[in-house]
Amino acid sequence: MSHSLAFVRATRALEQRIALITCDRSRQGKTQACDRHRHKARALLNIASQGAIDALTAAICGHPGRCQPCGAKAIEIVRAYNEGAE
Ligand SMILES: [Zn+2]
Ligand SMILES: [Zn+2]
Repeated sequence: MSHSLAFVRATRALEQRIALITCDRSRQGKTQACDRHRHKARALLNIASQGAIDALTAAICGHPGRCQPCGAKAIEIVRAYNEGAE
């Protein structure tokens, strides 16, 4: 199965948005996430596509359990995904 160019472009934009959310740089007015979060964004996008907030929170946190800031980021990512997928 090959994806259309528009799909690939939308996915890249979404990955970048997710990377920025997890990186916290958007709050500092930066437009580029660091490498670590850019690499992580693809995996987070896959989890977001399943709408699994708990799994997403754990993936952002890097350890099981919940913490408030990562839970808020997880919700923000799923929202970004839903907007992007429309
Ligand atoms: Zn980062
Ligand atoms: Zn956390």
